[in-house]
Amino acid sequence: MRIDILTIFPEMFEAPLSGSIVGKARERRLVEINVYNIRNFTVDKHKVTDDYPFGGGVGMIMKPEPIFAATEHVLHEAGGGPARIILMTPQGKTLDQDMVRLLAKEKHMVIICGRYEGVDERVRQALVTDEISIGDYVLTGGELPAMVLVDAVTRFVPGVLCEDALVSESFASGILDYPQYTRPREFREMAVPDVLVSGDHEKVRLWRRKQALARTLDLRPDLLEGVPLSREDVELLDEIKREKLADLTREDPGNEYD
Ligand code: SAM
Repeated sequence: MRIDILTIFPEMFEAPLSGSIVGKARERRLVEINVYNIRNFTVDKHKVTDDYPFGGGVGMIMKPEPIFAATEHVLHEAGGGPARIILMTPQGKTLDQDMVRLLAKEKHMVIICGRYEGVDERVRQALVTDEISIGDYVLTGGELPAMVLVDAVTRFVPGVLCEDALVSESFASGILDYPQYTRPREFREMAVPDVLVSGDHEKVRLWRRKQALARTLDLRPDLLEGVPLSREDVELLDEIKREKLADLTREDPGNEYD
C-alpha cells in the first residue's frame, strides 16, 4: 500500500512514522509512506498556501491551487491508478474500525491535512473521494488526525501484525477486549485471576469471553446491539446480568423489589 500525506508541517510526521510498528512496516516495505510539503507546490515567490476568506470573516483558508497540484503530482508519480483522496476534517465521517479495515485493502491513499479555517471548498467539490473525522472536536490541523488514520490502517495491512493480534482485540468481533495481565502474579495485594494460571485453555477462553462481554455491557452497551451473538454469548450475558443483580441485592436488599 502507498500512502501520500500532504501537509504544510511535514516535520510533524518524523517520529510517528519512523518508530514502532509503522516504522517497521515501512522498513519491511509492507507500506510506503511519503510526506509532501504542500508549500513546494506553490508557484509564487513567497510560497503562500493560505488566503483571506471571500465574504470576510475570521481566519485564513488554504488555497486550492497547491493542494490540487500536490495531489495531481502524487497521483502521476504513483502511476495514475485508482486512489482514495482523503480530506481530514471534523465534518467528515467518524473513523471506526470497519472503515480502517476497508481502507487497509486500498492500494493508494492520499491524505490532505487542513490548517487554519480549513481548505477551499473546491478541494472538497472536485478532488476528494472521502472526508474523515477522528471525532466530534476541532483540532488545529489535520496532521494528528492523519497520523491516527495512518497508524490504524497500517496495523491492518497484511503482514504487519500477526493475525491473532487483530482477531482478539477490541472491535474485532464487535465488542471490547478482555482484561490482560502479565507478571508479577501478585502486585500490591492484587492477584491475577486463578483461571489464567490454571493451564485449562477452555476455561481461559470462556473466562475471557465472559469478561469481554461484561466489560462491553458496562462500558459500551451500544456495541452489543449491532453484534451477532452466539448462543454461548447469550448465556454468558444472562449469567453476567444475574450476577450483577445478585451483587446489587446484596448491597441493597430493597433492590429485590425494584
Ligand atoms: N473551520 C473548520 C470547521 O469548523 O469544520 C475547522 C478547521 S480546523 C481548525 C483545521 C483543520 O484541522 C481542518 O481543516 C482539518 O484538516 C483538521 N481537523 C480538525 N479537527 C479534526 C477532526 N476532528 N478530524 C479530522 N480533522 C480535523
